[in-house]
Amino acid sequence: MSELLDQRRYLIPFRSSLLPQIFTETLVIGAGAAGIKSALGAAESGDVILLAKHPSDVSNTAWAQGGVAIPLGDTDSIDSHVHDTLCAGGGLCDEPAVRLIIENAERSLNSLVALGAQFDLDETGAFQLGREAAHEHNRIVHANGDATGREIIRALNHAAAESKRIRRFNDCFAIDLLTATEAPGAPVLGAITMHPKFGLQIIWARHTVLATGGAGAVYRETSNPKTATADGVAMAYRAGADIADMSFIQFHPTTLYIAGAPRSLISEAVRGAGALLIDQAGHRFMPDYDDRAELASRDVVSRSIIHHLASRGGTHVFLDARTIEGFKNRFPTIAKKLAEFGIDPSTDLIPVNPAAHYAVGGIATDLQGRTSVKGLYAVGEAASIGFHGANRLASNSLLETLVMGQIVGETIQSAPGHGVLPTPVPINSDIRPSERGELDIADVLSSLRSAMWRNVGVERSGPRLDDAADMIEFWARYTLDKIFDDPIGWQAQSLLLVASLITRSAQWRTETRGCHWRKDHSESSDSFLVHDCWNRFESAPRTRPVLCAQDSIPSSGH
Ligand SMILES: Cc1cc2nc3c(=O)[nH]c(=O)nc-3n(C[C@H](O)[C@H](O)[C@H](O)COP(=O)(O)OP(=O)(O)OC[C@H]3O[C@@H](n4cnc5c(N)ncnc54)[C@H](O)[C@@H]3O)c2cc1C
Repeated sequence: MSELLDQRRYLIPFRSSLLPQIFTETLVIGAGAAGIKSALGAAESGDVILLAKHPSDVSNTAWAQGGVAIPLGDTDSIDSHVHDTLCAGGGLCDEPAVRLIIENAERSLNSLVALGAQFDLDETGAFQLGREAAHEHNRIVHANGDATGREIIRALNHAAAESKRIRRFNDCFAIDLLTATEAPGAPVLGAITMHPKFGLQIIWARHTVLATGGAGAVYRETSNPKTATADGVAMAYRAGADIADMSFIQFHPTTLYIAGAPRSLISEAVRGAGALLIDQAGHRFMPDYDDRAELASRDVVSRSIIHHLASRGGTHVFLDARTIEGFKNRFPTIAKKLAEFGIDPSTDLIPVNPAAHYAVGGIATDLQGRTSVKGLYAVGEAASIGFHGANRLASNSLLETLVMGQIVGETIQSAPGHGVLPTPVPINSDIRPSERGELDIADVLSSLRSAMWRNVGVERSGPRLDDAADMIEFWARYTLDKIFDDPIGWQAQSLLLVASLITRSAQWRTETRGCHWRKDHSESSDSFLVHDCWNRFESAPRTRPVLCAQDSIPSSGH
């Protein structure tokens, strides 16, 4: 337990009765695919406020390239997709969650098409189905080649704009969830937010949905937009919800490495199309590490690159895509990004290195997206329903956002008491200004991200994790005690908390499993065949067994 990281309930001092008050049936925080889908469902039966700190085109959803995994082909089946997901998940997938999501895959695709989303079709009018690593069949539905996320967001945004029951608050930052008391189990009643024009506002809601996306910004190297600061996980933890499996961060092996520029993803479909990984000396090194070479799973390729660079030196390796015909047509978004840096993939090598890509863990939920705290739901990358286990199968995350967004919306629709708005209660947060010295936030963030990459990155070990925990604790002492009045400060505070949760979970899990690789415990251990759940009211993690097909995920406190 850390005094500041675990005990601070709200980031700012306020008196709810003195702030402007807004009432709604459902508040959805986050406007990526998970948030918009949930909002559309909830709006079937009541009023919804859908808010986001940035426009939807700056979100993990909008940046998604490869596509959505859906078992559609003649030879494909739900069982095969379930099997591939369980294999990728390293023994930690909850099968009821896997079955629920994959059984609803086609339904969620149809509902997206009904909203106007246009996916790439073949000459017969059927969906073109791409292939990605560790999938037994071609089952990746995509749009405009490698711009699937953009098309999904376009269609969902259009539908949300048409809905008379959805009020959109753009550029609105959610700071904290509201609970009547600070005692364990106090239900969530909405959120306190900051809007650049309207200032601080209290939004009271009967149902609050966190759809705040991933945690890539905790790391120096990431494929995510810098806005992926895991605010939702931090808000939920402060409000007393369970957070699960945080050690599992998936690292993508190939992001464009241009010193000084943000990393951007070079989809694994490029390796699928024949691109090879070579080192500075022109040696194709992947066959030295794994028989599947470039098509080994993401964690294996990322580790191999890290090993290779450690033994040979250098900051990056190269993708050789010169043999791929029609690169610009097949991967127009990637080709455009490469052109910005003067790289022509038909003649030039593409410099790449691994980067943090996907947060497998998050806010623990049941099969309806309900968290351990009444009134609070979580969905998408911010949530952890047990679908991905210890490692995510490629293109399964957009699928999860779409299916679970729909299910959360339907759960809210069927909740009793429609039309009854929440009753406000006085909530006071009294935080005193700190007398401790100040650290420069930009410095703290840059040091945090570097430390997380070095010590809690692709390769981990006990001593390095302990060092990271000490550093986070030190920065937290001088950052968590302050009162900020803008999103940069609040995000920094949340990033420190989330970095601490990832590190604690990685320290606790003294084994190697899925995308969590411990150099000092290189084997998987049956004693860790459990989910680890963290709650700020408990001094040690609670564990939950992995669920088999016949089990149901224990119901939340709703
Ligand atoms: C480069 C890239 C490529 C990918 N390619 C694929 C792919 O091909 N297939 C696949 O399945 N998955 C892919 N993924 C993963 C997938 O895109 C994401 O997991 C998924 O889109 C997450 O959706 P989401 O709605 O949960 O979060 P996001 O789309 O990230 O949305 C989060 C929302 O929350 C808002 N928000 C966050 N904090 C706050 C706050 N404090 N206050 C208000 N608003 C807030 C943000 O503004 C945003 O609107 C990719 C990811 C990346 C980064």
